[in-house]
Amino acid sequence: MLLPDYHIHSARCGHARGEMREYVEKALALGLPGIGFADHIPMYWLKEQERDRGIAMSLEDLTEYVAEVEKLRLAYPDIPIKLGIEADYVPGFELELTKILDQYPFDYVLGSVHFINGWGFDNPAYLYKYEYMNIDDLYCQYFNLLQQAAQSRLFNVMAHPDLIKKFGYRPRFDLRELYEQTACVFAEASVAVEINTAGLRVPAQEIYPALGLLQACRKYAVPVTTGSDAHEPGLVGYAFDNIEPMLDEAGYTKVLILGL
Ligand code: ZN
Ligand code: FE
Ligand code: FE
Ligand code: ZN
Repeated sequence: MLLPDYHIHSARCGHARGEMREYVEKALALGLPGIGFADHIPMYWLKEQERDRGIAMSLEDLTEYVAEVEKLRLAYPDIPIKLGIEADYVPGFELELTKILDQYPFDYVLGSVHFINGWGFDNPAYLYKYEYMNIDDLYCQYFNLLQQAAQSRLFNVMAHPDLIKKFGYRPRFDLRELYEQTACVFAEASVAVEINTAGLRVPAQEIYPALGLLQACRKYAVPVTTGSDAHEPGLVGYAFDNIEPMLDEAGYTKVLILGL
């Protein structure tokens, strides 16, 4: 089964490489049935001078990003190219986010939790902070934020839904209850959940989400999407062979086609 890749970045975010057309060409070479760009949204919750250009594009870049996706669609009619965006969830800034999202015709919005109380916990630059943290508490905080994000109705898909495992810090307690609760919230909020292969490229060494969370999502009939989180053209469709066995094991027979 060839799967679409709906989580592709662009060099505008400051930590990805290559031209956007190279990502499209890689998808064509692989024969993927569709792709979607979902680059990092500007850091809308911070003052302009506090925004890190190594994390996300500027507001001015966003207009160009949207225009380039539209150009690529015309240049590559053989593959459906969706206009997505990866938007951070930061409680208290829902209105600021809405204002940006309303300005552009996004086909979908990936919702991501990358910050816990202002700490970019998935950023290798701040890795040392894990040493001062109670990992069990962190997992609870992370999943609480993720549930809140889903309930905000700002997002269509919850991206890399257990990103908190990225650096291999694991909780001491059984996550099953938290998975169950999270999947239930996703279903009530009508969001989809992303199967993201980037987890295989980091210390977690496991697709996001863990099988247990995916199984809980299946139980509550939460739709799934697929993405590589490619930050370079060669990573489009990365390790997608590993997705199908996981879908089978969780009981999914199809994945969501976005932007229809
Ligand atoms: Zn990124
Ligand atoms: Fe992300
Ligand atoms: Fe991403
Ligand atoms: Zn991501």
